[in-house]
Amino acid sequence: MSSVPSIPAERLPELLRAMPKAELHMHIEGSLEPELIFAMSQRNGVAIPYASVEELRQAYAFTNLQSFLDIYYAGASVLITQQDFHDMAWAYLQKAKADNVVHAELFFDPQTHTARGVAMQVVIEGLHSACVRAGTELGVDASLILCFLRHLSEEDAFATLEQALPFRDKFIGVGLDSSEVGHPPEKFARVFARCRELGLHLVAHAGEEGPPEYVWTALDLLKVERVDHGVQSSKDPQLMQRLARDRIPLTVCPLSNLKLCVFPSLDQHNIRALLDAGLVVTVNSDDPAYFGGYVNDNFLQTFAATGLTAAQAYTLAANSFEASFADAGQKKRWREQLDAAFARFA
Ligand SMILES: [Zn+2]
Repeated sequence: MSSVPSIPAERLPELLRAMPKAELHMHIEGSLEPELIFAMSQRNGVAIPYASVEELRQAYAFTNLQSFLDIYYAGASVLITQQDFHDMAWAYLQKAKADNVVHAELFFDPQTHTARGVAMQVVIEGLHSACVRAGTELGVDASLILCFLRHLSEEDAFATLEQALPFRDKFIGVGLDSSEVGHPPEKFARVFARCRELGLHLVAHAGEEGPPEYVWTALDLLKVERVDHGVQSSKDPQLMQRLARDRIPLTVCPLSNLKLCVFPSLDQHNIRALLDAGLVVTVNSDDPAYFGGYVNDNFLQTFAATGLTAAQAYTLAANSFEASFADAGQKKRWREQLDAAFARFA
């Protein structure tokens, strides 16, 4: 679309909901709603240290990334069977469909499960079957990205990769997540080099709480194709130029940043500055069950707080397709759907 049609401001929320979009930064274990955690804890006989759904939900008052991760790992402990993994992903994919997500690349954390004695096959087959079902029943295109937990060793990451390789056709790439500060990207340089040889796509969380240096090393040492979060990049003008020049996408998660106190309020989020600098910014939900909203909630609340416009909505949705790992023909079809959605609102 050469120019975005002018859309009346009062129709912007409706447009944000209706426009097709890709979600590229969401941890499937972070979509486990308290109700599902309780249901699985009962059906699997796994005790959790919360008496009720309400008590669990009230524990979601985080002060930083680590305070969230402690509860997140407790929640994931109820996942035991292939059916559990399927049900978790299927619940998310139905919500994605409702938000007009046409393509989702889902992060999963196998080490969170294999360390508890759950087999890699159970994790991957359960999640993958939900992705296949989403394609046929919902028309949502979904794929998986295996994330290494950065608070664990690179040796552990190598062992995880070995366990996952028999299922190489069921995931498209690898990422790096969990506690960022003190665990710089270079800790995983060798395992990422190996994944690159294997033809896997590469992404990593960097510059969420960690410094711009972590974004530099994610790019130069890990050779990632996308940076997850990356919001701290705005502290380094040279890095901003590099990200813009090479069109390295940032998968920004505004409600996550708010909940984990990366920014004191949404109106102080730097998403507008990142867009103004020409970066390929996308909007995503990160861990939607824990951070107060799915992808459309992220769009709606961010636009309400920052005053972003319909033209910026178009850019963000178009960026989500450009930044995805889908093929060029598919990206072109999604852009046409996006143009059609905007034309309907003009
Ligand atoms: Zn994340």
